[in-house]
Amino acid sequence: MKIISVSVMAIQLPLHRPFIVAYETYETMPTIIVKLQTDTGYIGYGEATPDQHVTGETWESTYAVLTKVLGPLVLDEHPFNIERIHARMDDALYGCPAAKAGIDIACYDLMGKISGQPVYHLLGGLYHDSLTIPYVLSIKEPEAMAQEAADAVANGYGCIKIKVGLHRDTDIERVHAVRKAVGKSVQIRVDANQGWQNRTDTLYVLERIEDCNIDWIEQPVVADDLVALADVRRQTTLPIMVDEGLHDVRDMREVIALGAADRINIKLMKCGGLYPALKLVSQAEMARMECQVGSMVESSVATAAGAHLSIAKKNITSNEMVGPLMFTQDIGALNYEGSRLHLSDKPGLGIEVDERMLAEMVCISETVDRK
Ligand code: MG
Repeated sequence: MKIISVSVMAIQLPLHRPFIVAYETYETMPTIIVKLQTDTGYIGYGEATPDQHVTGETWESTYAVLTKVLGPLVLDEHPFNIERIHARMDDALYGCPAAKAGIDIACYDLMGKISGQPVYHLLGGLYHDSLTIPYVLSIKEPEAMAQEAADAVANGYGCIKIKVGLHRDTDIERVHAVRKAVGKSVQIRVDANQGWQNRTDTLYVLERIEDCNIDWIEQPVVADDLVALADVRRQTTLPIMVDEGLHDVRDMREVIALGAADRINIKLMKCGGLYPALKLVSQAEMARMECQVGSMVESSVATAAGAHLSIAKKNITSNEMVGPLMFTQDIGALNYEGSRLHLSDKPGLGIEVDERMLAEMVCISETVDRK
């Protein structure tokens, strides 16, 4: 069996409302769908959702990498040869993890469909019974965030993730306002997305939210300063999660060596897909660190991949598989019920891709084959 064609489709997913984090405001989410076809008639879907602030890949560059470099490279490969496919991708091109994740996820969808198994059975099987998702609050005025958090809790959410990182005093107000609005029993996590400019600002905020009973503070310093992250960790009682500062296994080695974090946020788009993500989970386990699986606000295809990984691993204790909830239209459907995400046991990712919807959303596409 071999892969005989690679279709690359660049699409824009429409958002219910703009998504605002410290470094960007998104009106729509640009992403790229990868469709692999085998000579035996199987079709696997993957997704590459680049974030130029995190991996240096743009929508346009990722499209070019997939159509010109990675697409041609996987032609004639057996989709189960994932070790070799990654080795060849890494030999051909340094970095570009989101583009590589697009190929990797499509291979796993194929492996599942060919073997008649859901992808989680290829990653360790069902460890967790179900997946619980947090409610993610974009950065707004403190009162507006508090109100939205209270509404989310009224709708059954038991965990709120607060985006901060714009102005340190208002950020402190944001966290306090949300804690006050949701009461004591709701879990709160805070993500600064590198927004604070230096260690002084970071420690100023952390000292003033230490009494808010937050689970952890995510990426409270700039991404590429793991030394500063380790320094902050030594000076606060709040658990530290590394996100933008951790991409691949080499970064992970440094995070462990420096004692820079208590928890890690794995994203398929930062590490290159499910296969490299498994390595990060193992490294974290060795260092007794727990993992979260986050996302770049992806469609149901990449979100399903992250969900299959999350449910299969003991050491993955939180996830942010919320992308599809933010779109007015998606190319497939995941089964959400309030704060629960129910995963399909159908072969592969379990996502029925709506080809008609996909065709409507396509901005540019190309198919790579031997013809
Ligand atoms: Mg984050």
